[in-house]
Amino acid sequence: MPEKLYEGKAKKIFATDDPNLVSQQFKDDATAFDGTKKSQIVHKGVSNARISACLFRLLEDNGIATQLIEQTAEDTLLTRKLDMYRVELVVRNYAAGSIVKRLGFEEGQKFKKPLVEYFLKDDSLHDPLITCMHIEEMGLVAKDELQELKALALRVNQILSDFFAGRGITLVDFKLEFGKDSEGNIILGDEISPDTCRFWDAETGRKLDKDRFRFDLGDVEQAYEEILNRVEG
Ligand code: UDP
Repeated sequence: MPEKLYEGKAKKIFATDDPNLVSQQFKDDATAFDGTKKSQIVHKGVSNARISACLFRLLEDNGIATQLIEQTAEDTLLTRKLDMYRVELVVRNYAAGSIVKRLGFEEGQKFKKPLVEYFLKDDSLHDPLITCMHIEEMGLVAKDELQELKALALRVNQILSDFFAGRGITLVDFKLEFGKDSEGNIILGDEISPDTCRFWDAETGRKLDKDRFRFDLGDVEQAYEEILNRVEG
């Protein structure tokens, strides 16, 4: 039995024989609103592992270094071990979620150009929004590296937005996490899935992501499978 290194809300991380690689098993567990809403989404682990693998391969093909080595089981990805930054980057093309509440934008309003926001990864502080100066003060990311993370996030946004547009989906916003490998290279990690992105059907505006779970909109499983089919199709 491989050693479990960490269990998060959506994934379990296991050691492998290679100290530079870890195995990530995606769970069906779903949480929202700072962990206060908890349930399971049937088949989510498999859908998210497959969606994430597909999107990481797409990004690799477009010159973005990602954590992915290969999919080793329906719900499991073999990945490079990274030392993760304690900062999450959110890219927004349209207003939705927290920015609507925080700044009063109307949901669905298109931003003049994509916005990049930074959030501190700290459950005890409820993952607050932070500025570049906070990041510098707290020594979370070196200044030149932060510029690189921002540029990478915007490139990822361009690649994913084009990809999803071709599949009839509007990429509204998404969250990215980066880390460094043992040689100090900056690598995209974690996952890209309906748990971490907002996807709206381009024709109908129907939400095809975790908002269906957050706001009890129904047909949650179907939304994840719809994204899987459009990504793989
Ligand atoms: N997001 C995420 N993990 C988080 C917070 C946000 O994956 O801990 C994703 C979320 O699914 C959405 C985007 O980042 O696609 C922007 O989220 P927002 O700040 O609007 O927060 P929310 O209101 O969704 O919690």
